[in-house]
Amino acid sequence: MRLAAVPSTPSQTKPRTYEEIVRDIYNDKRANHEARELLLAVAYAVYLTEPEGGVSPLREARRVLGRNRIGKPRYDDLMAADVPRYVPPREVEQHAHLSPCEAPRLRPYKPRAYKPRTQTLPDDVPVLKDEMIARRLPPPTVHVMPGYRPPRDWRTEDGVCGANSYRCVQERDPRTGWVIAHWFCKRHAEHADRVSEQVREQNEAAPEPVPNIGGLLPCYFKADWAKVYQHYAPRWEAPKYGICADDWPTPGEAFKAHRRLRMVLGGGEPEEQP
Ligand SMILES: [Zn+2]
Repeated sequence: MRLAAVPSTPSQTKPRTYEEIVRDIYNDKRANHEARELLLAVAYAVYLTEPEGGVSPLREARRVLGRNRIGKPRYDDLMAADVPRYVPPREVEQHAHLSPCEAPRLRPYKPRAYKPRTQTLPDDVPVLKDEMIARRLPPPTVHVMPGYRPPRDWRTEDGVCGANSYRCVQERDPRTGWVIAHWFCKRHAEHADRVSEQVREQNEAAPEPVPNIGGLLPCYFKADWAKVYQHYAPRWEAPKYGICADDWPTPGEAFKAHRRLRMVLGGGEPEEQP
């Protein structure tokens, strides 16, 4: 297979240098560490090795990526992970009990006053005075990760039920086709029916979901990636938005596809891609 680098922006006509492509790969926010490793291995194979007569640089990338713990080439898994596709949010698939019901509350929440426990201790347990406890115990420290937000207290949220759910109604975004999960508890079964009736028409008219995972290799290298992806995901079908993550419409940015210019290494003319 012929492999070539892709310029960094549509206005560029020259393919990136090795330094530029490595810099761009490290700065690509879409790439997790596995995708990055695959991209860097392919970059190494394309730029820094000279494959003998007609051997694909991908073979060299496969070699340098080595094998995993059970002896399977890591390249296979990394390649399968880069297959362009849409993965719905976790809320859709997760266990119903993890999702609070979002229907309107049936009865308003009234906080009750705390009632101290009355407990009689056995005679042989010494009773500690408050100041003794205060001297012994250090103040409690709560360690949390940066950015941690305590879970929402659904009881105090105005107008939301918050009970454990059992049913999910999926809404499809009319622009992106992405799934939005709405969860409801058993007491709100009728409400869930109403909501699913409300979104039925919108869901039927919703477009094929815009892919949100994979498709990074075509952003950096030009090759017949559809064929490669097909090999690693036999039931995969190419999304209608294209297989290059750069071409996918971004909801935040006026929902427009990007255009870019690619160049084939080895004397090819620049060609414009839709
Ligand atoms: Zn409910």
